[in-house]
Amino acid sequence: MSIPCDIAIIGGGIAGYTAAIRAAQAGKKVVIIEKEKLGGTCLHKGCIPSKALLRSAEIYSTLLNADTYGIKVAEGAVTVDFPGVQQRKEQTVEQLYKGLQYLMRKHKITIISGAGRVIGPSIFSPRSGSVAVELADGEMETVVPVHLMIATGSRPRTLPGLPADPAQVMTSDDALVMEQLPASILIIGGGVIGVEWASMLIDFGVEVTLVETAARLLPGEDAEVSAELTKQLGKRGVRILTGIQLKLDTYTYKDGQASLEADTGEGKVILAAEKLLVSVGRQANIEGIGLENTDIQLNKDVIRVNGNFQTTEPHIYAVGDVNGGLQLAHAAAHEAMVAVEHLLGNKPSGTAHAQIPRAIYSHPEIASIGLTEEEARRQGHDIKIGKIPFQAIGKALILGEPGGFAKVIADKKTNDIIGVHLVGPHATDLLSEASLALLMDAAPWEVGQVIHPHPTLSEALGEAMLAVDGNATVI
Ligand code: FAD
Repeated sequence: MSIPCDIAIIGGGIAGYTAAIRAAQAGKKVVIIEKEKLGGTCLHKGCIPSKALLRSAEIYSTLLNADTYGIKVAEGAVTVDFPGVQQRKEQTVEQLYKGLQYLMRKHKITIISGAGRVIGPSIFSPRSGSVAVELADGEMETVVPVHLMIATGSRPRTLPGLPADPAQVMTSDDALVMEQLPASILIIGGGVIGVEWASMLIDFGVEVTLVETAARLLPGEDAEVSAELTKQLGKRGVRILTGIQLKLDTYTYKDGQASLEADTGEGKVILAAEKLLVSVGRQANIEGIGLENTDIQLNKDVIRVNGNFQTTEPHIYAVGDVNGGLQLAHAAAHEAMVAVEHLLGNKPSGTAHAQIPRAIYSHPEIASIGLTEEEARRQGHDIKIGKIPFQAIGKALILGEPGGFAKVIADKKTNDIIGVHLVGPHATDLLSEASLALLMDAAPWEVGQVIHPHPTLSEALGEAMLAVDGNATVI
């Protein structure tokens, strides 16, 4: 049977379902083809479940430190009920999953459960872009769209030589469904996912070693942010090893302990833990989706797209993790909207890469937009910097979270804000004011004119904006 439609979308993650909703709002007939669960990585294996676990870890750690707030908790009275933690996480995901299914019904979006594969010119269409769908019962269906959107996302990268056995070596997918906390863990990869897990697991009382090949954690973030995070995680007991080369072929597993050798640059160390978590990035899902039946070109191992997210076959778009942009949920959703606006014949208001915010939900939280100080200098900007420690902000002290800072980088000549970096309490919620400032092309002093309520954490950013021109009032 063939199903004609205006837009078919392979992959029902945040990129796919956002594109579907926007296209349905414009009156288009939309079909999503999803082989697992609508919601994709972010809802089921990423943003939402990981943040739910982080929240439980934060509550536990806060209760253990309750005496800091003048609250006495009897010794041993606070314990982690990990199945309960997992249950709460699943309830959160389930609630959002139901909401998403409701939205699909509301917008009359057809969902086909099965694996989609792009086919070339055929009896259904003279051009490539129809989709053969293998349904769960083995039956086939063909979806014949005017436009196709590929939103097949990504999956965790693995390391050669390490067993694909979650009892020993986990990906983030495996870690999210752990039934029990290990006593100790070795996390390989000090990027966003590794840092979030290190922060969560140390708060749950697990012994954590975090190793990173680069010279510092979060090598893509501002060096001062990375240093602050390293300091705070270190203080909480995370053993952090950077600039390290693992010898994967030395991996062994014995008596419930995984171990392998590493070269620190100054000598060899043996790293051992009950479990390993590999968090070394994600690879785009480009295999088995029929790209060979099209003229779609790749950029290494991601689908090549232009600024409107068209592939080299202009009626086929690729949005989200599969095109290798910033692998973030809000970036995927934004790309989806740009792509739909474009195929509708509208002029999309594309946001420059530099205006996509980045958020890390470790403790301390990290949020940034635009250039780091190092990038700004490398690109030849003559810069001025405003920096305010959260220690100078009353609300941060009230919360008991005085660590971290807000940092604003501006170009001396143009007075443009070119980078904003926050590390500290609720940084991820605070960043949007900076995003708005960049979108509106505001100068630092203009944001400094905004009246920030007192006492709030938002004062940190307002003061950092004023500090760019030496006009902060709290330091
Ligand atoms: P996906 O969400 O991966 O969706 C792709 C969908 O396509 C999947 O449902 C898959 O089943 C389906 N599919 C694949 N192939 C086929 C096929 N042939 N036929 C049919 N269906 C197919 N980002 C943030 O912004 N904030 C966060 O806090 C955050 N936390 C994260 C935490 C973790 C542990 C991880 C792993 C990721 C996190 N991310 C976060 C990243 C975010 O999850 C991704 O950037 C986002 O999910 C990408 O969306 P997508 O729609 O491109 O792909």
